Amino acid sequence: MPTKIDSSPLYVGRFAPSPSGQLHFGSLVTALASYLDARHHNGQWLVRMEDIDATRCLPGVDSDILHTLECHDLHWDGTVLYQQQQHARYQAKLDNLLAEKSAYFCACTRKQIKANGGHDNHYCRELGLTAQAVSESAPNTRGLAIRLKLDCHLSAFDDGIMGRVDKTGAISAAHSISPDLTSSSFAEAGQHRVKSNSNSNSNSNSDDGSISASEATPLSTVPEDVVIKRSDGLFAYNFVVALDDEYQGVTDIIRGSDLLDVTPLQYAIYRSLGCSVPRYGHIPVAAVSQGRKLSKQNHAAPINNKNALENIVHGLSFLGQGNYHANEFENVTQLLTMAISRWDRKLVPKIAEIIVGEHESTYYSHPL
Ligand SMILES: [Zn+2]
Repeated sequence: MPTKIDSSPLYVGRFAPSPSGQLHFGSLVTALASYLDARHHNGQWLVRMEDIDATRCLPGVDSDILHTLECHDLHWDGTVLYQQQQHARYQAKLDNLLAEKSAYFCACTRKQIKANGGHDNHYCRELGLTAQAVSESAPNTRGLAIRLKLDCHLSAFDDGIMGRVDKTGAISAAHSISPDLTSSSFAEAGQHRVKSNSNSNSNSNSDDGSISASEATPLSTVPEDVVIKRSDGLFAYNFVVALDDEYQGVTDIIRGSDLLDVTPLQYAIYRSLGCSVPRYGHIPVAAVSQGRKLSKQNHAAPINNKNALENIVHGLSFLGQGNYHANEFENVTQLLTMAISRWDRKLVPKIAEIIVGEHESTYYSHPL
């Protein structure tokens, strides 16, 4: 029997794509897992467009993404939140943080930070630059970043799918092998891989624009004070995502395991902002080869909306939910109804990535 979350009667999940490219098999699987988990727990399921970095967004892609979700009967609750329309709320929070001295201006240049081997939290904190002083001494305040004080330690956490995850984001060895690897029903999973050492990941920028923990924090205990507004005036992804989760009452986040290594830092940010911390569950990412997840950069093929039933069957198999056969269902609604009732987090492979078939990427016909 699937287990129910009973620590809270309320469940609000979300899918938060970046409109920088159409959905591919990997992002559809993330949407599907988050949808099934929410509906299985009688929860709400929200969609948020993570378009905070407008330079990464392509016109019309948001509509394409929503259309693909609708074609797959993944219907969301409420209206879609666009981060680009939320600037006033972000700025109001930022002003409060500065006023209460929970955040501060940082005048360090990249060069200085590099020379120090990282940002020295105490240096700019103690400078006590204020908006007024900054504007008087340096009229171009756009040149200064704003950092959030993080006085808590990075810590291990219990992931709703992967089990125990340490403070570097590595899956505990005891949980890192799927018990069902050899009999995996995912027909095209030629290989499975356990993430060997997430710390060695030097480029973990994800599709959704999140930051790399290895870049942002030393792997020691107290993290570097995180930049929440960049020197170019852009709000940082990990700041707005916490504010949006709080604003939308998100309680549960199901997302790809490529974000595991930033999760301990994200916990610290939620706490420092005074936001309630959601529960996380991470699923394997779809990869074209070891360490190369399906992404726009890896030429992931866009989802074909005409094959919705087959796509969902394929996704359920990837998520370890068993063998469904498209010809046994009249439509996607019927399939999803059954998949919601049978959804079981424990069946999701506890591994970082699963290699998918070559047809999921145009990489093979158009080498990088
Ligand atoms: Zn500084």
